[in-house]
Amino acid sequence: MIPTSAASEAPAAADARPFSGFRLGKSLVVAIDGPSGSGKSSVSREVARRLRAAYLDTGAMYRAVTLHCVATGVDLHDGAAVEAAARDIELFISTSPDLESVTIAGDDVTAAIREPEVSSAVSAVATTMGARAELIRRQRALIAGAGHRIVAEGRDITTVVAPDAEVRILLTASEEARLRRRGDQLGGTQTDAQLKQQVLDRDARDSAVVNFHQAADGVVTLDSSDLDFEQTVSAVLDVVRIVAH
Ligand code: C5P
Repeated sequence: MIPTSAASEAPAAADARPFSGFRLGKSLVVAIDGPSGSGKSSVSREVARRLRAAYLDTGAMYRAVTLHCVATGVDLHDGAAVEAAARDIELFISTSPDLESVTIAGDDVTAAIREPEVSSAVSAVATTMGARAELIRRQRALIAGAGHRIVAEGRDITTVVAPDAEVRILLTASEEARLRRRGDQLGGTQTDAQLKQQVLDRDARDSAVVNFHQAADGVVTLDSSDLDFEQTVSAVLDVVRIVAH
């Protein structure tokens, strides 16, 4: 089943002002890729609000399939079974930047998909090509359904899911910055070794099937290592203004 989605509604007026009328009536797909801890989810969500666009977190879809497999006893090493789970899952993901909601067959899994057990298992789904093909198909349908005004983020949005997007950005950050941010996000409860395992090892596993460390042709690289959240949002919006004028 292809999930449905709700488009975003008005953000704060002051935030929206610079973009009122910007490309009105024209397609605006902003594709943002990057490694774990690059800040791409929070930055993309805020950029979507300011552009009055929908927002799609594709990582949440991989996480939902992973949770579904674990919950229903699907062996994550059985490629055919994982692919079947990706096809059969009744998955809904909100595409409003103001509503974070993921459900499986109507059950709210918004928080459960962020649990460490899901983070450490998700690469098994991401490296199952049949499951990827199914999720890519659903992601393209969501992007098309959002009226072509959407910020979509993940690992392969600029290269595979939406290579024709008007704006394509690779959001990077140094290893040190990425580990620090993820540590802050998790409330400082993790040891350095645990953080490295969660951030670097997962990225290494994911890299087997997608390249999100080097920008493809036509993709703008934005290094956020020395930028705070607001500066990163502004930098992305600057790229949007320049590239999609
Ligand atoms: O972005 P997030 O860390 O939530 O993504 C979770 C996982 O989903 C990634 O580690 C990766 O395995 C997978 N993923 C992917 N392709 C995407 C988005 C996420 O393979 N476009």
